Amino acid sequence: DVRDLPLGDDAVEAFLADGVESLYPPQEEAVNAGVADGENVVAAVPTASGKTLIAEIGMLSAVEDGGKALYVVPLRALASEKADAFRRLPVDVAVSTGDYDERDEQLGDNDVIVATSEKVDSLVRNGVSWVRDVSCVVTDEVHLIDDPDRGPTLEVTMAKLRRLSDPQFVALSATVANADEFAGWLDAVLVESDWRPVDLKKGVAVDGTVEFDDGTTAEGDDVETLVRGAVDGGGQALVFVNSRRSAEATAESLASLGFGASGVGHEVRDSATTETGERLANCLEGGVAFHHAGLRSEHREAVEDVFRSRDIAAICATPTLAAGVNVPARRVVVRDHMRYSDTGMEPLPVLEVHQMFGRAGRPGLDPHGEAVLVAGNADADELREKYVEGEPEPVYSKLASRKALRTHVLSTVASGFASSREGVLDFLGATFYAHQEPDADLSGTVDDVLGFLRDAEMVEGDDELTATDLGHTVSRLYLDPLSAERIVDKIRKADDPTSLTFLEAVAHTPDMYRLYLRKGDDEKMYGFAQDHEDELVNQPSEFDRGFEDWLASLKTAVVLHDWTDERDEERIAEKHDVAPGDVRTRVERADWLLYAAESLAELVDSPHQRVVHETRLRVQHGVRDELLDLVRVRGVGRVRARRLYEAGIETRDDLRGVNADRVADLLGPKTAERVLDEVGRDEDADEMDATASVEQTEQS
Ligand code: ADP
Repeated sequence: DVRDLPLGDDAVEAFLADGVESLYPPQEEAVNAGVADGENVVAAVPTASGKTLIAEIGMLSAVEDGGKALYVVPLRALASEKADAFRRLPVDVAVSTGDYDERDEQLGDNDVIVATSEKVDSLVRNGVSWVRDVSCVVTDEVHLIDDPDRGPTLEVTMAKLRRLSDPQFVALSATVANADEFAGWLDAVLVESDWRPVDLKKGVAVDGTVEFDDGTTAEGDDVETLVRGAVDGGGQALVFVNSRRSAEATAESLASLGFGASGVGHEVRDSATTETGERLANCLEGGVAFHHAGLRSEHREAVEDVFRSRDIAAICATPTLAAGVNVPARRVVVRDHMRYSDTGMEPLPVLEVHQMFGRAGRPGLDPHGEAVLVAGNADADELREKYVEGEPEPVYSKLASRKALRTHVLSTVASGFASSREGVLDFLGATFYAHQEPDADLSGTVDDVLGFLRDAEMVEGDDELTATDLGHTVSRLYLDPLSAERIVDKIRKADDPTSLTFLEAVAHTPDMYRLYLRKGDDEKMYGFAQDHEDELVNQPSEFDRGFEDWLASLKTAVVLHDWTDERDEERIAEKHDVAPGDVRTRVERADWLLYAAESLAELVDSPHQRVVHETRLRVQHGVRDELLDLVRVRGVGRVRARRLYEAGIETRDDLRGVNADRVADLLGPKTAERVLDEVGRDEDADEMDATASVEQTEQS
């Protein structure tokens, strides 16, 4: 009974108000393990089985004892969703996202702070004081320690927090084969269970039939029949496929069957500025949607909302949907068990398929959930053995890679966790990696990495290791040291740089997201490189290793170049055969990297600081340099600025001197009034703050 929990009345009331009367079995186990008494607990329980409540009990008791809790989420998109969920509890909640800034210090006034592991790492690197007061750390989806990109940050951050304040750890994990190793690492009690609030039937679809593991069957071995079956039974379906294109195509073919229009189709159409948005609106009118990372976030959220309110029959999604967002369905159909990788097609890990399966069955609404894996041409028996009857694979630390270590060795030294080679090795000895591989020796890679950091002038000294000013800056900026080394090198070597010089510089870093070269792209990029030879620093020759890789990064630079040339976002996406969301994410990433480049240029006292700064402004606003003065006015984005400029109003000064009616003609009366008001006020405000300008870019 939740009334028996050792928590204050307010907290118990909040649980009761949610309809939580008695604890689910794994929750009870966690309480018996001491989660309300500051004990470390690892909960390895299936999706949607009430892990969050376990975390809440831990956080609430920490706060009642005068402490502070940190909830670490795996995805930025989940941070605000989790924080909103915690707002029903008697605690002050804040979210910390984005780049480090002064406001992060004030977040310490709250009881519970939600952030990604990268953000927490950044708070630690910047020496934010309240981090030392954290007495309870929850890590959601701790099995992501296995992820080569993000896992190392998660485990290193946990090790840092442990050194700083030795908090209670509540680690939530999917059911994995070696959850006991997490428990061993964290000195925690392991709560492991496959209990679920709604029964889950799992089966493989082959030869026209699904055979479930409880002996029952259902009709169909194709997406259409399987979705139709769920809908006819009064439920909804989630269909997982392996690419964005497939998600869209599958949704379109389902929508053409007609599942009843959803009300938000019109809204999406009205706000759709891209072809993808139009296609989504069409699907919604057929009662179906698609969901993938190339969708704009407001459209993604709209899709999740209409599905939860049962206004559409099905969502066709890439696996990102399974990773976090709570959208359960009667039936989950996993159409593809293979996915693309750099080396060709590879089978999905069992863990991931189980997470998709786990989205089946809505408590209180469905008698049971149904998870179906479509066999297609594969051997159905093998699939059944692996994905239906089999165990998820164990989780392995990915910390031993050079990329992970160069970042984390620098931050360990720069933020004072180690001041010698031995100190670094000692700190790394407290990570999950060291727990898992007690006999492994990291000293070789660490020496390599320290060599690189010394050559790049980021650390210095032999017995006594310290970070240089550059090293501190790189660590605080949260840059991969290799990115910083490349950017600094280009800033130093550039002779007569243009914006393109620095667009290429940030595009060719490991911190920029890749774009793939499509057929014919390599020739186009090669031609572009030749035409712009004077503007590109360190251009590799076609005989160099990594030349292909460089061409791919050049493609990103060209996308950014088109954006700063005031091309339309949709047209850029079309021209380069990428999703509209891909353009936006590259622009945001470049904005951040150019901000970092500005700091680096200043630090090395470069004569090109002005060009770097203007490049960043151009990326922020998506404009050519002649519009840079106009876009400083709040409310004037790339489109409005161009309109004013073409009418002869080229600067803020021009705008102040001009007749108000002319501005009204150009921008419409309401906008004109606002803009003229702003430009009067904005006299001394030379720098715009970054948030305002991002908003402005979005508006335009
Ligand atoms: P997980 O974090 O394991 O994916 P959630 O914590 O999101 O799962 O729980 C899924 C749903 O179950 C939520 O809607 C939650 O309110 C509900 N829930 C959790 N614990 C209980 C309980 N003891 N009794 C009733 N409902 C519960």
